[in-house]
Amino acid sequence: MHNILVTPGDGIGPEVIDATRRVLDWYGKNRNFAFAIEEGLVGGIAFEKTGRPDPDDTILKARRADAVLFGAVGGPQWDKLPFNQKPERGLLRLRKDLELFANLRPALCFDALKDASTLKPEIVSGLDILIVRELTGGVYFGEPKETTTLPDGQKRAVDTQVYTTSEIERIAREAFELARLRGKRVASAEKSNVMVTGVLWRQVVSKVHKEEFADVELSHVLADNCAMQLVRNPKQYDVIVTDNLFGDVLSDEAAQLTGSIGMLPSASLGAKDTNGKQYALYEPIHGSAPDIAGQGLANPIACILSLAMCLRYSFARVDDAKLLERAVERVLAEGYRTGDIMQPGMHKVGTTAMTDAILKALQSLA
Ligand code: NAD
Repeated sequence: MHNILVTPGDGIGPEVIDATRRVLDWYGKNRNFAFAIEEGLVGGIAFEKTGRPDPDDTILKARRADAVLFGAVGGPQWDKLPFNQKPERGLLRLRKDLELFANLRPALCFDALKDASTLKPEIVSGLDILIVRELTGGVYFGEPKETTTLPDGQKRAVDTQVYTTSEIERIAREAFELARLRGKRVASAEKSNVMVTGVLWRQVVSKVHKEEFADVELSHVLADNCAMQLVRNPKQYDVIVTDNLFGDVLSDEAAQLTGSIGMLPSASLGAKDTNGKQYALYEPIHGSAPDIAGQGLANPIACILSLAMCLRYSFARVDDAKLLERAVERVLAEGYRTGDIMQPGMHKVGTTAMTDAILKALQSLA
């Protein structure tokens, strides 16, 4: 039995999570996928109901679960709350308490959407890369992190980039293991030409590779060159592993290659414990989209593809994950489009009709 916690959150979160639950039910009925669902409050709705955006009860349920399916949080009505009561705090606490150190962002370009990219169709058609970003270390968390005033009156701000051997080892292992499930190639991006953390990063990744993953091909690339290669020839990559800061930038760049924000899933994974249990949270990369919330217009595909990642990485059901990705590909090829990915001559649908079409495609492909 697989235990799944769903945290719908705010805005379009509940709508895309409902759509994804319908897909889960389909897997339960048709693919022998036994699961139990719990629901947890998070974000603005949690603040309204409990006074906190990150209730302890939700964290407890997340610890019990094999995977968390997260919708989205946030909205203008909560923008003025103090930092520790803001909806986003709910997501940050989940990431921190479950020690989710590896952020996985696939950039997958469906053939039917190749014209939606800002790059030429031949550059992005068939694109399938995975960016593995270190999520809990580096310059966003390093100390000192401060702004001081100098004797001459000007300000001086400092952020500190810090990485330890063990932090680099665990993200490198994650990337190599993921590459084994895909094209068996890892490109490690850093700035070893100008940063000592980059030098250490390169040394540690090389050592982990040599000692544990010689069957996977490893290349090193400077992060600035990687940014350029992503728009020049992104299909040369399979898995890219990089630190928190470069990963933030490179994963957004890669996301843009594929067209719409409503299409992109993500996963955040923790370490495996001695029993093999690994905390994991799956979520669409988009936010709560308050401008279209409650109108049945949201594209559910990013959330549904997050479920595909969950099937692949938390439950080792690679065939089921592929089936879901093929079903999405089919409905796009058939011309179904939500507003965010609408193109001339296509069939415009809302959240429910898009989900219906995906369920129908699953049924006929299975
Ligand atoms: P957003 O991703 O919510 O929306 C950006 C634009 O994309 C909007 O026009 C929206 O309508 C559209 N869009 C997003 N997802 C879509 C979907 N599935 N289908 C169709 N259209 C979609 O980003 P934003 O507007 O910057 O932020 C809105 C709120 O979401 C803010 O409160 C922000 O803090 C929060 N946010 C939350 C998360 C998260 O929960 N992980 C991530 C980003 C932003």
